[in-house]
Amino acid sequence: MKRILLAEDDEILRMLIVDTLEDEDCQVDEAVDGLEALGLLQEGQYDLVIIDYMMPAYSGLEVIEQVRQEGINTNVAILMLSAKSQLSEQEKAIGAGADYFIAKPFSPLELLDKVRDILDEKNKIQ
Ligand SMILES: [Mg+2]
Repeated sequence: MKRILLAEDDEILRMLIVDTLEDEDCQVDEAVDGLEALGLLQEGQYDLVIIDYMMPAYSGLEVIEQVRQEGINTNVAILMLSAKSQLSEQEKAIGAGADYFIAKPFSPLELLDKVRDILDEKNKIQ
């Protein structure tokens, strides 16, 4: 079973994403801010982290910078969510080590397609 970490400070959106992934063969752990996300990433091995750009404690950008620089969860795929759809923000996310990016607002189906693609891709690599 795949393990996904979902780090999103917006409770409604977090619930929506958990519901969206409910029927997938995966376990979803939730973090409400960057600090909690980092702690979970240090403790456990995940296949995918879905992480919001703007969060309290540490931003999603700060979390993924630390994860990539310190080699935490080395093989984890990172999908960044952001309300900032400007190219510069997307470039910052990719530059910090995100593999994929979705701009808010997105539809549940769009997210589900993306997550399936990412996990399929990981299956091919491993
Ligand atoms: Mg946020």
